[in-house]
Amino acid sequence: MDELDRAERLIATIPDFPQEGVVFRDISPLLADAAALRVAVDALTGPFAGQFDAVAGIEARGFLLAGAAAIAAGVGLVPIRKAGKLPRVAASVSYSLEYGEAVVEVPEGLPRGMRVLLVDDVLATGGTLRAGREVLGEIGCTVTGTAALMEIAALGGRAVLGGDVHSVFVV
Ligand code: 5GP
Repeated sequence: MDELDRAERLIATIPDFPQEGVVFRDISPLLADAAALRVAVDALTGPFAGQFDAVAGIEARGFLLAGAAAIAAGVGLVPIRKAGKLPRVAASVSYSLEYGEAVVEVPEGLPRGMRVLLVDDVLATGGTLRAGREVLGEIGCTVTGTAALMEIAALGGRAVLGGDVHSVFVV
């Protein structure tokens, strides 16, 4: 088994979380394993080498991968936050969840015109990554890549992103 297969097997599948009928993918065991974290982060960013000046991650689990990826690639980090966390908001985008609405925001003070690789842990319906792209566009960033560690194909997120997303693992 190669190291990337081993990393995938570390992702736990938890039925009925956070609510009945939802199958939750928990990446915590992968994050805790040094070799798996390294190979997963490399696989996440590899196709975009040389094409980004910063990695953006979506709160909260996207931050973990974005931070690791930014250090590994030698670039900066852009946090995309959920509503109400930032003292100064440069742009804000609301989007639909399975139940209800959510909002993502980016802070003021970021350089304009950055080339950004946008990452998250899981691509489900695609609404979160699509909102992430939009909010980065609003502050003048160019999103040169969109990547998820795990894609849940049955939920159709890839189509919502126009097919333009790199997934390390697909279930
Ligand atoms: P989407 O907007 O694509 O429906 O949902 C993706 C967002 O919800 C991501 O930010 C992700 O962290 C979270 N999410 C949805 N399903 C799961 C899951 O099964 N496991 C994890 N870790 N996060 C999930």
